Amino acid sequence: MKIIKLQTLRGPNYWSINRHKLIEMWLDLEEMNEIYSNEIPEFYEGLIQILPSLEEHFCSPGHRGGFLKRVKQGTLMGHVIEHVALELQTLAGIRVKFGRARSTSKPGVYRVIFEYRQEAAGRYAAKAALRLVENIIDRGYYPEKELKLDLEDLRKLKAETSLGLTTEAILKEAEARKIPWTELPARGIVQLGYGIHQRRIVAAQTSNTSLLGTELACDKEGTITMLREANLPVPKGTVIYRLRQLENAIEEIGFPIVIKPLDGNHGRGITLNINSWRDAESAYDLAKSESKSGGVLVERYYKGRDFRVLVINGKVVAVAERVPAHVVGDGRSTIAELIAQVNKDPRRGDGHENILTRITIDEHSEQLLAEQRLSLNSILEKGEICYLKATANLSTGGTAIDRTEEIHPQNVWIAQRAARIIGLDIAGIDITSPEISRPLTEVDGVIVEVNAAPGLRMHLQPSEGTPRNVAAPILDMLYPLDRPHQIPIVAVTGTNGKTTTTRLIAHILRQTKKTVGYTTTDGTYIGDFLAEPGDNTGPQSAQLILQDPSVEVAVLETARGGILRSGLAFSQCDVGVVLNVSDDHLGLHNINTLEDMAHVKSVIAEATSPNGFVVLNADDPLVAAMAKSDRQKAKVTYFSMDRWNPIIWEHIKNGGVAAVYDNGYLCFLSGENVIQVELAVNIPLTLGGKAPFMIANALAASLAAYVQGVKVEDISTALRTFRASVEQTPGRMNLISWANFQVLLDYAHNPAGYQALGQFVGNWSTGERIGVIGAPGDRREQDLRKLGMLAAQIFDRVIIKEDEDNRGRNRGEVAALIREGITQEKPDFPYEIILDEQTAIETALLKATENSLVVILPDKVDRALDLLKQPVMI
Ligand code: ATP
Ligand code: ATP
Ligand code: MG
Ligand code: MG
Repeated sequence: MKIIKLQTLRGPNYWSINRHKLIEMWLDLEEMNEIYSNEIPEFYEGLIQILPSLEEHFCSPGHRGGFLKRVKQGTLMGHVIEHVALELQTLAGIRVKFGRARSTSKPGVYRVIFEYRQEAAGRYAAKAALRLVENIIDRGYYPEKELKLDLEDLRKLKAETSLGLTTEAILKEAEARKIPWTELPARGIVQLGYGIHQRRIVAAQTSNTSLLGTELACDKEGTITMLREANLPVPKGTVIYRLRQLENAIEEIGFPIVIKPLDGNHGRGITLNINSWRDAESAYDLAKSESKSGGVLVERYYKGRDFRVLVINGKVVAVAERVPAHVVGDGRSTIAELIAQVNKDPRRGDGHENILTRITIDEHSEQLLAEQRLSLNSILEKGEICYLKATANLSTGGTAIDRTEEIHPQNVWIAQRAARIIGLDIAGIDITSPEISRPLTEVDGVIVEVNAAPGLRMHLQPSEGTPRNVAAPILDMLYPLDRPHQIPIVAVTGTNGKTTTTRLIAHILRQTKKTVGYTTTDGTYIGDFLAEPGDNTGPQSAQLILQDPSVEVAVLETARGGILRSGLAFSQCDVGVVLNVSDDHLGLHNINTLEDMAHVKSVIAEATSPNGFVVLNADDPLVAAMAKSDRQKAKVTYFSMDRWNPIIWEHIKNGGVAAVYDNGYLCFLSGENVIQVELAVNIPLTLGGKAPFMIANALAASLAAYVQGVKVEDISTALRTFRASVEQTPGRMNLISWANFQVLLDYAHNPAGYQALGQFVGNWSTGERIGVIGAPGDRREQDLRKLGMLAAQIFDRVIIKEDEDNRGRNRGEVAALIREGITQEKPDFPYEIILDEQTAIETALLKATENSLVVILPDKVDRALDLLKQPVMI
């Protein structure tokens, strides 16, 4: 067996609208083709021996053991690998469930689909699953040791991509509120929302967080001075830079004291409760060595417990008591044994990766033990508490107890005031006080420090007491009720007319003075400017638009390739336009029939928000049928070239909205009302009303804008000012005067496109109709012949040329197939083959007769346009 390709889907996709994170593995079963699990000796036994938990997979039987039953009865390896890939991830602590295995039109080739959470781990699981299954086939078992290594790797990959507990909690809350998020490529920044409405976070730091506030909070002395000035309770203390200043400082403050680095964190370099000159001296050295600025803070030692008060957007939202790492005696075990027991708690991990951190013994802990006349080998009495760290940081093994209900109202007020004075939207106020339930001023409690970007894990998952969803107030702050997080997204798909319609919609929306971002086959645009040239109809270009902080509305040409390769870039759009489904790209990516293709395009319709609208072509049965799917949640609107189309009729009767072409007018129908938008002859795009397919595109675009709330007058103005010009739609129905004949530059490249173009060419009565034609090499032979047949019907004579890149075919092959089609249709039809596009175009222009129409269907639009700008040398 072998993996042919491994694709990562990241948005709504062919398999599922709601499950965005899927691995699609193309698997060639090779020697295992048509060999069922029950035919392989020892396979079932080997599989349950290494993965007994497969028992939990329901699979099609729908109950526990369902999948294993299928293995026993006989199933193909693609299906087994799907379940193994899911189970490996599950065993590594990654929650996944969804999977599918489907055959393709190629014998022995399967598409195996399964969920992932972390892309790297998902891709790893695909390969590991194949390895495991192959081992069982060959040897009857998979070594336990190997499985252990696989799971270790998976856990590592999971941890590497984890964004941290605080960020993940915020993102989980965002997901619950249907706020989309995207990881940005630098500094672990995560974007919430889209375009102009985006907000950013990095852990508990947000795009609202002031840099001044952050810098002030990091300056311990400055913070304390500011709070002292405001008459808030802070420790009495002073900053020194030299050892000889220590004596004076102590005299001023009086024992007991605390000595700490001026700019430290995580409790590094702090000594608490110093009562002698000798201890003070060594504490000074320690603090000095940890201090970047060289400053050392000498403070009075305040006896008490450690509280963290979390203030978000001016309000106290949670309070936790932090308890330094400690063990409690049982009368039998040594301290070392007790620590080992505590560290077995599955909630404890290394550093910040888990809810709690494992306790490690360093020289400070040993010193602390020595002060208590204990060692790691001492046995504690039952119930006796031994502290192992001086400070209560979670990151050194401390624990947290929720005290949100207990804080005294005056302390709430003090903490909120402190956060505001320092100037932080999210602040962690550290308080040392015997009680939090009594005013600090009464019990001699103090604010020790204010933290910017405080960790949230002690509130989210305290070791004792009620967990607090502190991510919620963060999102309330970033997105108050009346503040949108999305920008309107219009997505356009179909076989033909996507680029034209996308550009027209963008042009209409520009009438509303909003900054429009749009992607097309010719490039990505923001406002009036080209942001990125190239064929940009996939999710990456859509991301560029959705991440741009100036974009107020997005119009995204969404082609089949991107949908199949990685899914959509957004989880929902507001308007989903499906123009048509016709014969193109069939045979690629296992999409072999028009129905399959319609399924691909229906991803857009189904990903349209329930509050949004789909704009469907009522004249195309495969598109119109999308309205009937039960996965289709958005409100339906239709467009049609035929006012009397029964679908429109029925739809209007039921109170729907539609756009139709009637009596020379583009109209909106809504219940009884008929709104005439514009006469087709006034719309340059339709070439004086002579290109019906352009009228259809204009109907779709107008309707998409109308359901987005654009005024009819604005739509009409836009239709009149949008030209099928080289500037606005390069290479799409550009009619150019040339010497004594006309040149039409167009992009038709599939049968439906040729037919549409034929409607216009057929109206040309003044002279000869000459075609310069070619086609992409990755189309099927029958498709290329079909284009030849159509060309023979449309034109009086043709020149056949080829693309620069024949996408896998030999030079001359595409042209030969088109010629076959031509001669099949009309054996005497005049044609020439000139493979080089440039020469072909030049020849056509040189030989064109008076009043003729030369239709050029170029591979490279820009190059053809350049040619048309220069006089041709004779
Ligand atoms: P972190 O990164 O955890 O905030 P830090 O290195 O910034 O640590 P501080 O916050 O200043 O250090 O102090 C850590 C802990 O030491 C405090 O939470 C408190 O428990 C204790 N502490 C600090 N100063 C005093 C003091 N003057 N009196 C009593 N305890 C203190
Ligand atoms: P691509 O898949 O290459 O990106 P597209 O869907 O973006 O194509 P356009 O670039 O707008 O389509 O148009 C390409 C050609 O298809 C046009 O030049 C025209 O010949 C033809 N065409 C445009 N609209 C339609 C339509 N509604 N029906 C049939 N053919 C059309
Ligand atoms: Mg601190
Ligand atoms: Mg296009």
